[in-house]
Amino acid sequence: MTGEPVKKIVIVGGGSAGWMTAAALANALQGSCEITLIESEEIGTVGVGEATIPPVRQFNARLGIDEPTFLKETGGTFKLGIEFVDWYEIGKSYFHPFGQYGAEFDTVPFYQYWMREYLAGEPTPLDDYSMAWAMARAGRFEHPARDKRLIQSTFDYAYHFDATHYARFLRGYSEARGVQRVEGRVGDVSRDGESGFITSVSLEDGRRFEGELFIDCTGFFGLLIEQTLKTGYEDWSHWLPCDRAVAMPCEASEPPAPYTRSIARRAGWQWRIPLQHRVGNGHVYASAYMEPGEAESELVASLEGTAKGEPRHLRFTTGRRRKFWNGNCVAIGLSAGFMEPLESTSLHLIQYGILRLLALFPDRAMSPLLAEEYNALTSAEYERIRDFLILHYKATARRDSPFWEYVADMQVPDRLAYKMAHFRAHGMIVSDERELFTNPSWIAVYTGQGVLPERAPALSSYRAQVPVAERMKQVRTAMAEAVAAMPAHADFLARYCSSERQ
Ligand SMILES: Cc1cc2nc3c(=O)[nH]c(=O)nc-3n(C[C@H](O)[C@H](O)[C@H](O)COP(=O)(O)OP(=O)(O)OC[C@H]3O[C@@H](n4cnc5c(N)ncnc54)[C@H](O)[C@@H]3O)c2cc1C
Repeated sequence: MTGEPVKKIVIVGGGSAGWMTAAALANALQGSCEITLIESEEIGTVGVGEATIPPVRQFNARLGIDEPTFLKETGGTFKLGIEFVDWYEIGKSYFHPFGQYGAEFDTVPFYQYWMREYLAGEPTPLDDYSMAWAMARAGRFEHPARDKRLIQSTFDYAYHFDATHYARFLRGYSEARGVQRVEGRVGDVSRDGESGFITSVSLEDGRRFEGELFIDCTGFFGLLIEQTLKTGYEDWSHWLPCDRAVAMPCEASEPPAPYTRSIARRAGWQWRIPLQHRVGNGHVYASAYMEPGEAESELVASLEGTAKGEPRHLRFTTGRRRKFWNGNCVAIGLSAGFMEPLESTSLHLIQYGILRLLALFPDRAMSPLLAEEYNALTSAEYERIRDFLILHYKATARRDSPFWEYVADMQVPDRLAYKMAHFRAHGMIVSDERELFTNPSWIAVYTGQGVLPERAPALSSYRAQVPVAERMKQVRTAMAEAVAAMPAHADFLARYCSSERQ
């Protein structure tokens, strides 16, 4: 026996969050629930959010979305990781790859052997053992091999895509599955006097939409979760002080690279995201250390192609809502919280917000236990990601501006301090359960940003009979041969999913 089912869901907001939610609910609820999405063209969307991480592929697969069609419709390209430039020191770069380092050849993990050799004076950088970086650096791409014995199976990938086309693509998907789209601006929200639950939203033209479950996808407005329900916000700016961004696409001056670039700047950093039809660029900065005009000038001066359109200035406060699910309202997307786009985690948080909502899907009784569990899981996830982002700032040798001095000296959350202490002492990675960023990601950022262990993990010193140097050389040779046989990323795109987008 089940409780009385939810029959009417109202989603307010039609950015990536709104349409990802609509698509996933329409797919999961199979027409047995009325789903209405209200969005306002006049208000518009934030319109950025173009780099993703590998789990996005599971989201698409769950929805039955065909990869080449998706990439064609969104002007998408492949992403093998992120190159971080000037983060540790000006002039130094490293790569955060998707996938593992090397190939396991013993019970001791590959990275521990690398560490042992490196600390003993073998100079080969860790990047040289990443298949994803070998491909990215050479501008090549093909799908990972299914055969786990092959070096070509050791990388993973995600996408870059045009955020506006993405929302449009998902809108088509959702409408085809019965989602009703309403154009208009919500001006008023009604609540039940006793439970405090939202009962309906009304548009400025007077149309009213009743619902049993409301999803707040209104972006930074937080129309339902904050303006109506006064849920509260936990501010993390003291750890992640960037609070502004200026975005400006440009024409491509070269074939699209299969990776994102993040270049550290005086008071923040800049992204470069290559799509098929243009390059997305943006400068994320801390307003306490830089004026918007300066941020814009720095961005414009560094564009690699002719600018397309006007610069777009955005403001945000890093942090999260105190509750993501409050009563009969669930906040998904920027209305739930925002951490800067350094590791492309926002769309991922949307995806997991939706999947978690489906896993804990309520009936009309809206059990507070479901909300409690949703909030606990989501908070923990936000905090794990937050700490990984903070690491990028804390682990720096830069002292060339007040911004870098501040982040290098700041106190970090206890859990992060504990993880860093472990790695520094003996190269161990403390991994929390359900960690989105697994060992290779932490190793990439630790070692790329100068957090090196005093000694290698103990087990590696017992394995004197393993021919480590020889095995590591074999890995490098296998990687070089595999990359040489792959097509250029641009050629792969042209063949697989060429887009006509502008
Ligand atoms: C600078 C920057 C860079 C980013 N880069 C990345 C990235 O590389 N990767 C990544 O994963 N994420 C990134 N993000 C985050 C990503 O852009 C967002 O998570 C994603 O776009 C979802 O936004 P949203 O749908 O929550 O909000 P929005 O896009 O702002 O959409 C809000 C919607 O609500 C509607 N709305 C608001 N008020 C009302 C109202 N009163 N009535 C009716 N409708 C209303 C609007 O019309 C709009 O449709 C970035 C964000 C920023 C700020």
